[in-house]
Amino acid sequence: MNHFIELEQQFCAHNYSPISIVLSQGKGVYVWDDQGNRYLDMMSAYSAVSLGHSHPRLVKTLQEQGARLGVVSRAFYTDQLGPFVARTCKLTGMDMGLPMNTGAEAVETALKAARKWAYTVKGISENRAEIIVCEGNFHGRTIAIIGFSSEDQYRGGFGPFPKGFIRIPYGDAQALQQAITPNTAAFLVEPVQGEGGIVVPPKGYLRRCAEICRNHNVLLLCDEVQTGLGRTGRILASHHDGVQPDGLMLGKALGGGLLPVSMFLARNDVMDVFQPGDHGSTFGGNPLAAAVGLEALNVLVEDDLVENAAEMGKYFLERLFQIRSPLIKSIRGKGLLTGIEIYTAQISSKAFCAALALNGILSKETHETVIRFAPPIIITQAQINWAINRITEIFRQFERLPYKDAVGH
Ligand code: PMP
Repeated sequence: MNHFIELEQQFCAHNYSPISIVLSQGKGVYVWDDQGNRYLDMMSAYSAVSLGHSHPRLVKTLQEQGARLGVVSRAFYTDQLGPFVARTCKLTGMDMGLPMNTGAEAVETALKAARKWAYTVKGISENRAEIIVCEGNFHGRTIAIIGFSSEDQYRGGFGPFPKGFIRIPYGDAQALQQAITPNTAAFLVEPVQGEGGIVVPPKGYLRRCAEICRNHNVLLLCDEVQTGLGRTGRILASHHDGVQPDGLMLGKALGGGLLPVSMFLARNDVMDVFQPGDHGSTFGGNPLAAAVGLEALNVLVEDDLVENAAEMGKYFLERLFQIRSPLIKSIRGKGLLTGIEIYTAQISSKAFCAALALNGILSKETHETVIRFAPPIIITQAQINWAINRITEIFRQFERLPYKDAVGH
C-alpha cells in the first residue's frame, strides 16, 4: 500500500473514506497525484477552491502578508480586517460582518445572533426562541447543527442536542408559513441544497419565504457557504430570486482555496446584538486570512468569474443533458453547482466517482445517488468539453455492465 495512505490510515481518524489517490500538487483547475497523474478537479473542495488551486495572486498575497503579519487576535485592530469586511459587505449588500474560520462557525454565529435578536429586539421570552430549518439541510458538524440535521448518521451517537429547532420540508413555502409561531426567531435555509444532493427549489421559493419572514418579523438566514461568491452564477444564490437575506453565511471560497475563512453578515440591527465578549474566535479575522480573503474577492470581481460561472454553468448543464443515458434519473444545477442523480439499482454514485478518478476527473458523490460536479469557476469551455467526453464515455461503459459496481469498486 502507498506509504502516505498507510500513515493516514494508521494515525488519522477514520472520519472520511478517501479514494485511493494521493494528491501532492495543484494549479488552476488541475491537481496531480504523487505518481504524476493529472486530474481535472471538478469538486474543488466542496467549492472552497472556486478560484482554482494556487492562484498566483492569492499565493503572492499569502506570502507577502504572512511575512508581514499573520495572527494577532481581535484584541487589536489591524490594517487588514476593516478593508476585508467592508469589501465583503459591499459586494453582498449586507451592513456588517463577523469573521470566523469555518462554515460551521459562521452558522453557529448566525444561530446565536438570531436567538439574541429574538430576546432583545423581537421580545420573545428568554429561552423560548425557535429557529426553523429544512429537511435535507447541511450546515456543518457541530453538536447544535447536527442536532437539527435530518441525516441519521450525522446525529447517531452524538446526542443530546440543543432544543429550539423545527424542521420543515425544503422547497415548500407553505410549510414555512404554517410552522411560524410567535416564538419564531429565524428561518435558516440554503438557496440550493448542496450536500443534500444539489437540490434546486422551485423558482420563486426563496422570494416567497422572504415575504413570509418579513410579514412575521422572522429573520431570513441564508447559508451561502457553498452557493455564495459566484458559484451559482450570481454573487449570492439568493439574488436569483431577488432576495437580500437578513443574515448571511459565507465560507469556503472566501478563503481563496488557501485558508479557512468564513463570515456571518447581517443587517445593522441584527449584528448590533453582539457586545464585546459575547462571541469570538482566536483566528477569526486574522490579518493573514483578511488579506487573502480580500484578494479572493478582488480576483472574483476583476476576472469576471461570476459571469464565467453563469455562462460555463449553463453550457455544462446543456452538455450534460445531451448525454442521455438510461442510468440518469435527473440532472440539476445552478451555475457551476451541478449534480447528476442516477438510478442506483444499476450503479452507485461512489463507483461512478471512482471510475471518473481513474479517467482523470475528480468529483464526489453526495449520498448514494448524486454525482456532484462543482469545478473551479475559472473553468473554460475547452476544459468542459474534455470533461464531457470523459463523463459520457464512463456512462457508456456503465450502461454495458449488468451489475452494480461491476468495475470492481
Ligand atoms: N454550510 C453549508 C451549506 C455547507 O455546504 C458546509 C460544508 N459543506 C458548511 C456549512 C460547513 O462548512 P465547514 O465544513 O467549513 O464547517
